[in-house]
Amino acid sequence: MSTVSMAANQAKQDEFNPFKSMAKGFDTAADHLGLDDGLREVLRLPERELKVSLPVMMDNGSTRVFEGYRVQHNFLRGPCKGGIRFDPHVNIDEVRALAAWMTWKCSVVNIPFGGGKGGVICDPRTMSQGELERLTRRYTAAIMDILGPDRDVPAPDMNTGEQTMAWIMDTYSMHVRRTTTAIVTGKPLNIGGSRGRREATGRGVMISANEALKMIGMRPEDTRVVVQGSGNVGGIGALLLHREGYKIVSLSDMYGTVYNDAGLDVPAVLAHLNESGRLEGYDECEHLPNAGQLELDCDLLVPAATENQITSENADRIKARLIVEGANGPCTAIASEILTDRGVVIVPDILANAGGVTVSYFEWVQDRMGYFWTEEIVNSRLEQIMVEAFQEVAETARKYDVPMRTAAYILAIDRVASVYKLRGVFA
Ligand code: NAD
Repeated sequence: MSTVSMAANQAKQDEFNPFKSMAKGFDTAADHLGLDDGLREVLRLPERELKVSLPVMMDNGSTRVFEGYRVQHNFLRGPCKGGIRFDPHVNIDEVRALAAWMTWKCSVVNIPFGGGKGGVICDPRTMSQGELERLTRRYTAAIMDILGPDRDVPAPDMNTGEQTMAWIMDTYSMHVRRTTTAIVTGKPLNIGGSRGRREATGRGVMISANEALKMIGMRPEDTRVVVQGSGNVGGIGALLLHREGYKIVSLSDMYGTVYNDAGLDVPAVLAHLNESGRLEGYDECEHLPNAGQLELDCDLLVPAATENQITSENADRIKARLIVEGANGPCTAIASEILTDRGVVIVPDILANAGGVTVSYFEWVQDRMGYFWTEEIVNSRLEQIMVEAFQEVAETARKYDVPMRTAAYILAIDRVASVYKLRGVFA
């Protein structure tokens, strides 16, 4: 390979590396804040990383050892908070980056948590329920010395859900000899889950879009929307935007894209998806390949599937004037620069998808009180927090004359840094 193509390869790898992407956002904000080198290092590095080997008895009687991690990036503002993902591609760099993102996300919405993240290298699609349960319980037991309602409170992430959280809660409770619901969030409703949690991230995306529209002087009924992904964030986000009067012209899942220039009947699309497991086969629309969906003509683009979707390769072809990041890291740092130079407004992930962690915080509060709120109360408190956070980020963007992503980092880092200064260095 020539030196030029090796350099191009390296540049591409760097563009897609989540830790490098997080570090870039962090450094830009730290420069604006004038943070000294020592404080930068304190805030950039994870406080604690745990790597565990997990022997699990498989259904065929053999034993397999899985590798898992839990990273606690920062617990200056409160217990660590962050999901656990089960995926073959999990690696320590990714878990580190996601843990740091959680610190900044909790800080942007000003909830009293730090950031953490966990992951296990496994392929859940090839594992039985029994194998997944044994893996989850072993992982919980292996990391439980650093868990606790006052120390670190996990939640679902990729390929983990309510059932996984129920197993974690049970395993932890069996060890401490009392039912401890506040040890995880995202649990089923009848074992300490919160009303409104399932819809919370999509609802936060909708609230962010409403605020962004007001900021740039547009109305929902004049706004054509493309949503990538139809899962928890994309599907629910699209439904709530549709109810607000936005015209959703396209939705996608990992198998394909649906498009209707006159606007999709989102409840009907989602009913079809629920029934058949795919968007494929839905009538009343055109079916397109996924490549190119993000470049469709629209005003608002909501990438809500996965990371690194808008890159240096397609950023120039994006037509939306507003992007609300439902997924974590859907735009690479280089793509964000290209889009910002073109005048596209990006509501960054650490603000736009913070509805989920905010209602996770409500779940933790309700579990600790043993008193559960109505869905109306959950939704109105979520709205209050999201709107306030949006206004603070917008104000910071004006004050520093920076894009909203940098502003969100400035706000978040400044809050954590000020706690650090008040608490001082324990020696
Ligand atoms: P999900 O598994 O419920 O849904 C993902 C959706 O994206 C599915 O419809 C899938 O088919 C689709 N998809 C995957 N790859 C695609 C591709 N290349 N093109 C088009 N569609 C594709 O996941 P989710 O919970 O909705 O999470 C989506 C993103 O939002 C992730 O980045 C996640 O980390 C982030 N996020 C989720 C939450 C939450 O509360 N669920 C909170 C914050 C951030």
